[in-house]
Amino acid sequence: MLTNRQLHCLKGIGIRHWPRSHAVVETAREPLASEPVAADPAPAKGAKPLKPEAKEVRPLKSGEDESISGSETGLPPKLSLETWDEINQSIQQCTACELARNCSQKVPGSGNRQADLMIIGEGPGHDEDIQGEPFVGRSGQLLDKMLSAIGLDRDQVFITNIVKCRPPNNRDPKQQEAQQCRVFLDAQIRQIKPRVILSVGRVSAQSLLETKQPVGKLLEQVHQLPGADIPLKVTYHPAYLLRTPSAKAIVWQDLKRLHQILNR
Ligand code: SF4
Repeated sequence: MLTNRQLHCLKGIGIRHWPRSHAVVETAREPLASEPVAADPAPAKGAKPLKPEAKEVRPLKSGEDESISGSETGLPPKLSLETWDEINQSIQQCTACELARNCSQKVPGSGNRQADLMIIGEGPGHDEDIQGEPFVGRSGQLLDKMLSAIGLDRDQVFITNIVKCRPPNNRDPKQQEAQQCRVFLDAQIRQIKPRVILSVGRVSAQSLLETKQPVGKLLEQVHQLPGADIPLKVTYHPAYLLRTPSAKAIVWQDLKRLHQILNR
């Protein structure tokens, strides 16, 4: 049985809960189901998985050594990325791509630096650019409800984006921009060593998995972050859910799978 709080959370993200007698068996996903239905009971309230032993994390690429010489790249010169202070200072000083010229401020990410779950979106939007925090505004509120539905609060996870500066006019980050910013994301992943990564949205999923496959295909299975022993689950971006409420049933299945990974 779902608790009243979980029912409230599901209602908040637009998912109807039916009693088990009306449950729909989970089958291969069809994009944009016509009627959102939660098939199974939600995970236990307040579930907080234990931190496992450290995992092998994506190795540095050539040129991404802990001491980066950035005189020609726009990256801060000779700045180590071994501590959070160094990572955040490097992001603040970075001018490696054109996104630095147009953003109001950098949005490095926020949350629990020892989180089991790391959430990675595509890039800061208008609200994030103003507030300096990832996933604020309506998308952020919906993300909070999605997390609450599996018993998590925002302060239990770490949230960041593929790029740390807002793309102008909310365009997608270019592949080159994502690649230039990757050194910071990889440094954050090495610090956190999450048990699982939730990649939200097409840009994030395609960048992290180095593929052109659509999100609707990528969310059918649990992946591994290339070069690291970290499970990676893909789901739709909250902003997409706001435009396409019928996709919430699919996201609910993704959240349940995420919870299973966190608790195994
Ligand atoms: Fe540097 Fe990343 Fe901002 Fe580009 S998006 S300027 S690589 S911090």
